Amino acid sequence: MRALVKDRPGPGLVLGDEPVPTIGRDDVLVRVLRTGICGTDLHIEAWDHWARAHVRPPLVVGHEFVGEIVELGADVQELALGDLVSGEGHLVCGRCRNCMAGRRVLCASSRGVGVDRDGAFAEYIALPAGNVWRHDSQIDLDVAAIFDPFGNAVHTALAFPVLGEDVLITGAGPIGIMASLICQRAGARNVVVTDLSEFRLELAKKLGATRAVPSNLGALSQVMRELDMREGFDIGLEMSGAPAALQTMVQTMAHGGRIAVLGLPATEFGIDWSHLITKMLTIRGIYGREMFETWYWMSVLVGSGLDVAPVITHRFAADDFKAAFDVLRSAECGKVVLYWAER
Ligand code: NAD
Ligand code: ZN
Repeated sequence: MRALVKDRPGPGLVLGDEPVPTIGRDDVLVRVLRTGICGTDLHIEAWDHWARAHVRPPLVVGHEFVGEIVELGADVQELALGDLVSGEGHLVCGRCRNCMAGRRVLCASSRGVGVDRDGAFAEYIALPAGNVWRHDSQIDLDVAAIFDPFGNAVHTALAFPVLGEDVLITGAGPIGIMASLICQRAGARNVVVTDLSEFRLELAKKLGATRAVPSNLGALSQVMRELDMREGFDIGLEMSGAPAALQTMVQTMAHGGRIAVLGLPATEFGIDWSHLITKMLTIRGIYGREMFETWYWMSVLVGSGLDVAPVITHRFAADDFKAAFDVLRSAECGKVVLYWAER
């Protein structure tokens, strides 16, 4: 099968010829239709500090996908050949305290598809049936392909109630923009989005953010005046990974404000703790998606009309993966999707 592989330590990926994975009794084999490219894939392609510490080649990369089931393990029930599915990209251990208590999102030893084990940028992927999410057969395949980052957006945006609240989202990448759509849907009063990229601020504006502004204290203070916000933001969603974004966020939060942090910073950094303490802020780290409540919410939101498709700005055939990676690296884009097969 064709597969996009990190074949050796070092920069680059090759579109190689790999054996179709074999499946165990509890697994399914999925014929991959479409995949989304994530920042993690860029890190692995570039072979940066994070990738060198986490990835052991050879590895088929990628974790955002939609496909159809073409083979069922002997013990798999409730799924059928032809089912349209995506996969939860974290394989939990099943035995740690949190797993045993049913809190799988908190697993202390989860393993990542396309990071710790072979991934989805291939014609086929094998996955435990317990990691598979079945879609409505009518779903837009592009949207189904990005359920993984859509799930990050849903999990973060709904970490705290946003009804009637003023929300600040730092980072208008695909996840930040999807979070903006979800907050609008969930009844936030104002959704203010920041970024450094003009392209992404435009996209955020087009998709309904109350304001989309450059990421600095001056611009935010002005927006707060314009929106007649007297005490600061009630809810913050950090979705850039940039230290400056969280530092500014802490300064613009209202007393008692709540911050959910999804963006992964590359290095340690400081924040103004006395600000955080005297404002009595809550900061909560967010990793992955709830298994499988977030997936349920995603399906229900899409089924009842939430359209995240406009976040996808570029589509490429898998053979053109180099051009696709270049576009994503440029950040002059929303979500980028690769096509592997027709249905
Ligand atoms: P992305 O890199 O496409 O988007 C990040 C955006 O932040 C970019 O548009 C960038 O221009 C912007 N940015 C940079 N500095 C900024 C600043 N100072 N203020 C405001 N914006 C700034 O990433 P994405 O795919 O949308 O993901 C968002 C973040 O979430 C990334 O940091 C990613 O690594 C992280 N992530 C975390 C998890 C998790 O489980 N915790 C899962 C997926 C992604
Ligand atoms: Zn566990």
